[in-house]
Amino acid sequence: MSFSLHDRHDLIARLKQETFDVLVVGGGVTGAGIARDAALRGLRVALVEMDDFSSGTSSRSSKLIHGGLRYLEQGDVGLVFEAVRERQRLMKLAPHLAKAQSFIVPVFKKSRHSVLLLDLGLTLYDMLAAGAGVIRHRAMRASRLLEHEPLLRAETLKGGVRYYDAQTDDVRLVMANLRDAHRSGAVCVSRMRFDSPRIDKGKITAVTVTDMTTDEQLEVRCQSVVLAAGPFADDAMRRFLGRQAPRPIIKPSKGVHVVVARNRLPLSEAILMTADDGRVVFALPWPHASVIGTTDTNYEGDLTNPRCSFDDVDYLLACANSHLKARGKPLERADVVSTWSGIRPLAIGTRDDADKTYNTSREHVIHKDPAGLVMIAGGKLTTYRVMAEEALDAAVTLLPGVRQDGLSPCSTGDRPLPGADNLPRGSSPLDHFAKRLSDSTECSLSLAEHLTQTYGSDAATVYEYCQAHPKGSRQVVSGCPIRWGEVDWVLNHEAPLTLVDLAVRRLPLYYIVGDKLLTKAPEIAEHMTEFFGQGDAAELQAELRQWIDDNRPYDSHAE
Ligand SMILES: Cc1cc2nc3c(=O)[nH]c(=O)nc-3n(C[C@H](O)[C@H](O)[C@H](O)COP(=O)(O)OP(=O)(O)OC[C@H]3O[C@@H](n4cnc5c(N)ncnc54)[C@H](O)[C@@H]3O)c2cc1C
Repeated sequence: MSFSLHDRHDLIARLKQETFDVLVVGGGVTGAGIARDAALRGLRVALVEMDDFSSGTSSRSSKLIHGGLRYLEQGDVGLVFEAVRERQRLMKLAPHLAKAQSFIVPVFKKSRHSVLLLDLGLTLYDMLAAGAGVIRHRAMRASRLLEHEPLLRAETLKGGVRYYDAQTDDVRLVMANLRDAHRSGAVCVSRMRFDSPRIDKGKITAVTVTDMTTDEQLEVRCQSVVLAAGPFADDAMRRFLGRQAPRPIIKPSKGVHVVVARNRLPLSEAILMTADDGRVVFALPWPHASVIGTTDTNYEGDLTNPRCSFDDVDYLLACANSHLKARGKPLERADVVSTWSGIRPLAIGTRDDADKTYNTSREHVIHKDPAGLVMIAGGKLTTYRVMAEEALDAAVTLLPGVRQDGLSPCSTGDRPLPGADNLPRGSSPLDHFAKRLSDSTECSLSLAEHLTQTYGSDAATVYEYCQAHPKGSRQVVSGCPIRWGEVDWVLNHEAPLTLVDLAVRRLPLYYIVGDKLLTKAPEIAEHMTEFFGQGDAAELQAELRQWIDDNRPYDSHAE
């Protein structure tokens, strides 16, 4: 089902005409999960996102679906239990969006933890996930570890453990939820900001929203509002109350990742490293790049565009260099192809005694107001589905009885996400699907594998787009696996409105090739305006250039 700029006009018309049971504010993973759950239960639901879908924290995470080994160390057993269960569930319901990834925790002479302690901790970690499909951890000697990851610094390596979590594409996870919500009847609109509620006789009856592309204000009739505004929780609450809330809801913390070329750091496995200050930092293998992250620092600046400083870059590179031998020479600033920074929406009140955000709990909080408001903040990408279920359960209790009757129960716990609905059953569904796609068409096995790993069973449709256009199977930027057919599929099914939406978020072109993307920007922008049948390609390019400039590392000491 199409979900593109071409649907926007009709969706806005529906916002104006219909009355919704639930209006969700925020198109990150939490809001997208709530909208999907609500539509599947049979509720009339709308979602408004003031920027691009997933443009907040949900495109700036470490892209892991994980229990979070370090939360176990902090004693957050409940959170880890829930997270590893959700990880296993997502690996089943969306294997293309939660792919098993092995992690090595190396133990060096100076390491804080012994192999024995890690072994014990990971035994508990595996037990919490207990069930089919859990790949158990293994403790290893240094020589064995080096066979798995030859880049590890051998000199003082004593041994370590190898365990499994999962990697995701956070943006596509958001989009998969929104697409399912959209095809189940939800009205999801990006660049539409929630401004204020209308409350009559103590109950919400409508909200005012602003179309950020035209500045037009409109009123949307609704019976309840769920604020899922991530790091903007305090701002969204202020808009709702018409004044500042008495206490802040979240404590923002900045996290930075840097991307380096794969040929400089050709990781075979993900590595869990410990920085000099004791923090955990990951080195993560991507198919065409390696990613190092993340930092975790208190943050007070602009929430829309947190920036990465050279201090952040140096901290991450130093940590990687102390654990790993990059090819040729140690990693340096010039190796950084791209970076991203995100704001953790850490909820105050779950463990607000912690003065450092690194120790603040990743649990979520839900506030409910009888006027028809639910506010959810905090949590993790990994636990978005249960968070959405809880927030919606709370919202349903605020609806008039007549709307509560006859609703279906929550079905997101066992309904596959788009891209998993046509995968074969059994083990290695992605491999089998790719083989079938390659056998039944002229698609090469390597292209079929790339498409299936990225889009699951939607790979078959993406391949049709690759075939439909003369350049469809060609790489958009040479050396990067993304094809023009993928651009067309994304334009039709994932509703990008700008070049940044398309080439930074939906397709990680910028992160993989960095500034090289600018040489291809004119061609991609032309392609987009042709598809839209409107717009100015030069404007799209200028916006991308500005975004890239705004996201370059800066010298914090020069300010
Ligand atoms: C560096 C970093 C690494 C992380 N790594 C992981 C990880 O590997 N695994 C994991 O499980 N979790 C991870 N997390 C946490 C996870 O990314 C977040 O918990 C999650 O993405 C939050 O999603 P959200 O939908 O609540 O917020 P967001 O994604 O920020 O969405 C909120 C949305 O609300 C919109 N909005 C705000 N106000 C309004 C308004 N008035 N009107 C309309 N829209 C509005 C915003 O534009 C935004 O898009 C990480 C976080 C960070 C920062």
